[in-house]
Amino acid sequence: MLLPNGIWISDPAPAKHRGPALFLDRDGVIVREVDYLSRAEDVGLETGAAELLHYARGRGFAIAVITNQSGIARGRFGWAEFEAVEAEIARQLSAQGLTLDLVVACAFHEDHTPDFTADHARWRKPGPAMLELAAERLGCDLAGSIMIGDKASDIEAARNAGLKMAIHVLTGHGREEREAALKLARRDFDVLPARDLIDAVMRLEAQDVGKSAL
Ligand SMILES: [Mg+2]
Repeated sequence: MLLPNGIWISDPAPAKHRGPALFLDRDGVIVREVDYLSRAEDVGLETGAAELLHYARGRGFAIAVITNQSGIARGRFGWAEFEAVEAEIARQLSAQGLTLDLVVACAFHEDHTPDFTADHARWRKPGPAMLELAAERLGCDLAGSIMIGDKASDIEAARNAGLKMAIHVLTGHGREEREAALKLARRDFDVLPARDLIDAVMRLEAQDVGKSAL
């Protein structure tokens, strides 16, 4: 559903989770990159997406997808097409026994949203607001949460939201974004490089993260 501020959320009152969250970018991370993905028939899960989600579930993470969808502000497609794509992603995950706890989407773009303001910028990644909203609705602790993305803006959103760790993958736009993504690391913010989602699972395993590690 669309919130009054123009942000889309899959469930305004999801079950409280009280653990860390695994935040995932959508395009180029859980689904294969397709330019302005807007048709259900073009949805394909990225290699390793099911393994990653099974792993995260087993470690007690809430799972939330955080996605910029400027194709809407650009007039390339509408929320109805976006929702059809979301339904297809949910269907393909469900076939593997998987669900997402929450999806948050932002249509804003600085060049295509009329009267784009600092508030719009807070919502669009690299702004932190979609992660903050997801953590608040899920009852998750941001500092213990982890983001996985293919763009530097995914990693920067994680840093802006106060996460301590993000994983940058080479799927989607990852190759051209790698250098900028790794440069976002700070003393209190790790950016772990991974090849793909299978490799990301190995990274998480090596870090011994999640509720069961406490
Ligand atoms: Mg992406």
